Amino acid sequence: MRLDDQDESNNVEDRRGENYGGAGFGNGLGFGRGSMGIGVLIAALAASYFFGIDPLTLLGLVSNFQTPPAAHVSAHKPPAEDPAARFVAKILASTESTWDQIFRENGERYVRPKLVLFSGATPTACGTGQSAMGPFYCPADQRVYIDLAFYRDLRQRFHAPGEFAQAYVIAHEVGHHVQHLLGISERVQRAQQGTTRARANALSVRLELQADCFAGVWGHRADAAKHIIEPGEVEQALTAASAIGDDRLQQQSQGRIVPESFTHGTSAQRVRWFKLGMESGDIRRCDTFKTASP
Ligand SMILES: [Zn+2]
Repeated sequence: MRLDDQDESNNVEDRRGENYGGAGFGNGLGFGRGSMGIGVLIAALAASYFFGIDPLTLLGLVSNFQTPPAAHVSAHKPPAEDPAARFVAKILASTESTWDQIFRENGERYVRPKLVLFSGATPTACGTGQSAMGPFYCPADQRVYIDLAFYRDLRQRFHAPGEFAQAYVIAHEVGHHVQHLLGISERVQRAQQGTTRARANALSVRLELQADCFAGVWGHRADAAKHIIEPGEVEQALTAASAIGDDRLQQQSQGRIVPESFTHGTSAQRVRWFKLGMESGDIRRCDTFKTASP
């Protein structure tokens, strides 16, 4: 990517190396303080299911078990000479100016999320965040959480190298923040309560595909504004979107595919919706809830 002209966001918090043990995790059964942390559930449900479950989805299923927001957590700025942190700060800034503009065009104001770099585990208002969950967004504290070790997995385990693939991951999580601001995630969460597991999963898929489409919208508009994408790089995001499709992940982890259990969409669906956003730059193209089969 060409990011020389790109500012860095001030909204990156560096919690790497803080060695947080976690109230709901790492202490035996993890029923600390009488409540079951989302981290515990994540560990139970998603131990082998990388990048598979957003806390967003879980919140809908386990809202009675939420831990209270974490107390004080320090918010350091990342060191200036840290290429990985600077890259993240530039991509976040790019999403900020893009979404600032889209919201303004629609007569709304974009509230910028924070992005937390952490290593291992960190407290969030959605429970303990774990690296093994992959990057995620917590609507209760409006923060995107990422352990940069995920980028190594993206390269090595998912065979999706490249800066634009890394940027896509951030843009997808920012897409969840946009859904939160627009009230979409909360509507989905309500609809997921009291319905079947299969139906709740199908709604989750639509939410995820929309976040992919929003990531594409960011890519389109950021490139139109600053020419940040170099030739061939769009393919990197498509490779990443494809590599983390539910069908591909299940095939790899279980050797079989169970469509009713999908929560993020197939590889083909993820690629299709990212492309729709990327080619149009238009959020109205991202209505994954209207279409009969996304
Ligand atoms: Zn997601």
